Amino acid sequence: MATQNPMVKCTVDQCTHWMNGNQCMAARISVYNDESSGTSRSADDTQCKSFHERKTVGDMVGALHNANVGGTMMAAFADGKQIMPSVECFVNNCVHWSSGNMCHAGTIEIAGRNAAKTQDTDCETFRAK
Ligand code: SF4
Ligand code: SF4
Repeated sequence: MATQNPMVKCTVDQCTHWMNGNQCMAARISVYNDESSGTSRSADDTQCKSFHERKTVGDMVGALHNANVGGTMMAAFADGKQIMPSVECFVNNCVHWSSGNMCHAGTIEIAGRNAAKTQDTDCETFRAK
């Protein structure tokens, strides 16, 4: 069976992986539960573990180890092309989650206004089972 990968829309412009157009240029993102409770009852409890706060130009360079270079190139050269990081998710009580830590939503929205740490980010597409 072909594996499905959601389109990622992200508004966390404090992240080194964020790009204009609310795109994520990471090669892969990981979505986790709230660490203290180990589960999620609402989107607030979920987080993008791949968030890395953008502070300096060096952070941009440091983020390149997880850069979707092929996707970035495609986005740069093909107008309207959406970058597609692969998504792994450990929030197994979400209706979109399936075994193998897959997300079967068509699109996910990551948000976190003025985020400074991973806990400040949320998967807004989370829906509890
Ligand atoms: S917060 Fe997550 S989804 Fe958003 S740009 Fe950063 S790594 Fe990508
Ligand atoms: S929609 Fe659900 S399964 Fe998909 S990444 Fe978000 S929390 Fe995980």
